[in-house]
Amino acid sequence: MKFRDAYGSGKFGLSFEIFPPKTPAGEGALFEAIETLMAFRPSLVTCTYGAGGSTREKTLELTVAIRERFGVNTAAHLTCVGSSYEALRAWLAMAAGRRVENIVALRGDPPRGESRFIPADGGPAHADELVAFIRREFPQFGVGVAGYPETHQEAASPEADLAYLKRKVEAGADVVITQLFYDNRDFFAFRRRYEQAGIRLPLVPGILPITNFAQVQRITTMCGAKLPPALAIRQCRELLDAGVPGLHFYVLNKATAPARILEALDLPAHVAKGA
Ligand SMILES: Cc1cc2nc3c(=O)[nH]c(=O)nc-3n(C[C@H](O)[C@H](O)[C@H](O)COP(=O)(O)OP(=O)(O)OC[C@H]3O[C@@H](n4cnc5c(N)ncnc54)[C@H](O)[C@@H]3O)c2cc1C
Repeated sequence: MKFRDAYGSGKFGLSFEIFPPKTPAGEGALFEAIETLMAFRPSLVTCTYGAGGSTREKTLELTVAIRERFGVNTAAHLTCVGSSYEALRAWLAMAAGRRVENIVALRGDPPRGESRFIPADGGPAHADELVAFIRREFPQFGVGVAGYPETHQEAASPEADLAYLKRKVEAGADVVITQLFYDNRDFFAFRRRYEQAGIRLPLVPGILPITNFAQVQRITTMCGAKLPPALAIRQCRELLDAGVPGLHFYVLNKATAPARILEALDLPAHVAKGA
C-alpha cells in the first residue's frame, strides 16, 4: 500500500514509526513490540534513517524484514545527510529492487555541534529537491514529507516554513506527517494555515506517547516542541474529533504506551462513527 492509499479520501491511516536498533537484542525487542502493535491493524510501519546517514543499509534491511515478517506495509525514511545524488540514486535503486513502496523524504539534521546543514558535494540541500529527484527517477514510490506545527527550528518565520512545505508538496509528495507536538492548538492553527495556503494533501499528526517525563523533556528540547501538561489519550481523542486523516505514532520501539493509548481510543469504533 502506498501513502496516498493509506490516508484521506475516507480512509483512516494508523502508522507506527520505529528506528533501527543497534543490537540483536534490541531487534528482538522491536519485533516483539511490532507483534503487539499489529493487533491495532496499522496501515504502515515506517523505519527511520539514522542521524548522519548512519543506518543506510540497516533502514532498508529492517523495512523489508518488517514487511515480510508481519505482512504490513512499510516505508523507509531517507535523508540528504552526506549523500550526493549518485549515492541517493544507488540507495533508491536498492530500495526499488527490494520492493520498498514508500519513502519518507527528509533533509536531515546538521551533525551534532553544527547549527547549519551543509549539503554533500553534488547532493540536495533541502527535502523539496530530494522529493523532486525521487519523482523524476523513481516515480513508483509513495512519498511522505515532514511538516512542523510549531515551525521548523531553522526557519526564518512560520510563513517561510509553510512556503517551503508547499514546495515539497508541489515537488510530488503524497502525505505530510508532522513533527511531534503536545498542544493541539498548535496543530489546529497550522492546519488552518496549511489549508489557506492551498495544500490539499492529508496532514497526519505525529504523536509521541508520553512514557517517561525525562525522555520527553530530552526529545522536546532537541526539536523545540513545547510541553504543556496534556495526556496522549486526550490529545488523540481531540485530534480524532477534529477529523484528522490518520495518526502517526513515534513508538520508540516500545509497544506499551501506544498500545494503552490505542486501547483507550477504540479506533475502529471511532472511525466508523465518524465515517
Ligand atoms: C515525520 C518525520 C520523520 C523524520 N524522520 C527522520 C529520520 O528518519 N532521520 C533523520 O535524521 N531525521 C528525521 N526527521 C527530522 C528531520 O530530518 C529534521 O527535522 C530536519 O531538520 C529537517 O528535515 P526536513 O525534511 O523537514 O527539511 P526541509 O523541508 O528541507 O526544511 C529544513 C529547513 O529549511 C527550510 N527550507 C526548506 N526548503 C527550503 C528551500 N528550498 N530553500 C531554503 N530553505 C528551505 C525549512 O523552512 C526548514 O527550516 C524526521 C522529522 C519528521 C517530522
